[in-house]
Amino acid sequence: MASKGRVDKCSFCGREKMDVNLLIAGIDGHICDRCAEQAHSIILEELKKKGSFDLTGIKLMKPREIKDFLDRYVIGQDHAKKILSVAVYNHYKRLVQRVDDDEIEIEKSNIILVGETGTGKTLLARTIARMLHVPFTIVDATVLTEAGYVGEDIESLLTRLLQVADYNVEAAERGIVFIDEIDKIARKGDNPSITRDVSGEGVQQGLLKLLEGSIVNVPPQGGRKHPEQKMIPVNTKNILFICGGAFDGIERKIAQRLNTKVIGYSAARETDRIERENLLQYISPQDLKSFGMIPEIIGRLPVLTYLDPLDKDTLRKILTEPKNSIIKQYIKLFELDNIQLHFDEEVLSYIVDKAVEFKLGARGLRSICESIMNDAMFHSPSQELRSLRITREYAEEKLEHSHVNRLKAG
Ligand code: ADP
Repeated sequence: MASKGRVDKCSFCGREKMDVNLLIAGIDGHICDRCAEQAHSIILEELKKKGSFDLTGIKLMKPREIKDFLDRYVIGQDHAKKILSVAVYNHYKRLVQRVDDDEIEIEKSNIILVGETGTGKTLLARTIARMLHVPFTIVDATVLTEAGYVGEDIESLLTRLLQVADYNVEAAERGIVFIDEIDKIARKGDNPSITRDVSGEGVQQGLLKLLEGSIVNVPPQGGRKHPEQKMIPVNTKNILFICGGAFDGIERKIAQRLNTKVIGYSAARETDRIERENLLQYISPQDLKSFGMIPEIIGRLPVLTYLDPLDKDTLRKILTEPKNSIIKQYIKLFELDNIQLHFDEEVLSYIVDKAVEFKLGARGLRSICESIMNDAMFHSPSQELRSLRITREYAEEKLEHSHVNRLKAG
């Protein structure tokens, strides 16, 4: 309230009434519109920090519920899903465990997923991230190099985690990191004494520190550490690491190992039988070692699991079944323009056949669909269409004239 001779001011920034759009009066002071807005954003920010990673009061999802959730987005891969569900569940249990309960401390079990590219390793990791209440990040091992080489310091893995946790160190220290393409840091030769492979073994040694659980100084902006930068110490003891890699050619190591166990005349027949199946299901830590992972790293990734290669049946399901499957996405896109989109069954088989023919796996499904649908997406919104049916002839015609077709040669 304006008293005689006194000018009303914002009690926060000191601006006078004539300098602001709005001045709200309180019992003992005033607040201007700008300060009110700023206060509002501070409140939102603080609530977000506290709320999003707060585990108190959160209902723990049981492993079966976690797997059910994964099932909605990822087709097949039951084995990997079960292992991940248990690992994530245990991670939560560990986090909510009161340290002084009894002296039994539950140790974390980092995970390694082995599977051809495009079989859903990253998708599994991303889907898990959707339902988590802990900070989660996906990083690529290929950008990491040993100090002194071009690339990023290993500690920068944790920078991303800090960033998603809004630099809340405590939250980051309970987070989950998915390290993709872990196989790219394998030692190139199998003989450590002759070849010293800086890009591989050095990075593995560096990574070991993080996996083991130690206090690591993290550069807040990532990249290379430099002396002027203030580091943030992060304890990695409770961070769960999930690693994924294609390990191209590891089947041969598995076959070799299995072969050596088969004695006598039946050996050849035995290999035939094994090779026809998915060899990855027999993977053991020993094979990772033969591939060039150092034993210490393998020891720190005690849960080893595999992903199945995708057959035609699975690819077809991937097209239509997941909650946000590619086909469902197109139907939705057209629906937004009030057009009812329909794919003939034969089109789906055609797309799958082409993905297999081009050796593109699940990743190719989208690019093939895009090539088929692009023209329709371009023209339909300007036409007065109520419905659109995609036939096999239409799909063939569009794909024949698209750039994806050129991949065939590759
Ligand atoms: P990876 O990490 O194993 O190389 P991705 O998870 O990146 O493979 O998979 C590539 C794409 O293929 C995903 O975005 C997804 O659309 C599809 N995809 C792969 N595997 C599956 C699966 N099992 N279920 C559903 N979609 C899948």
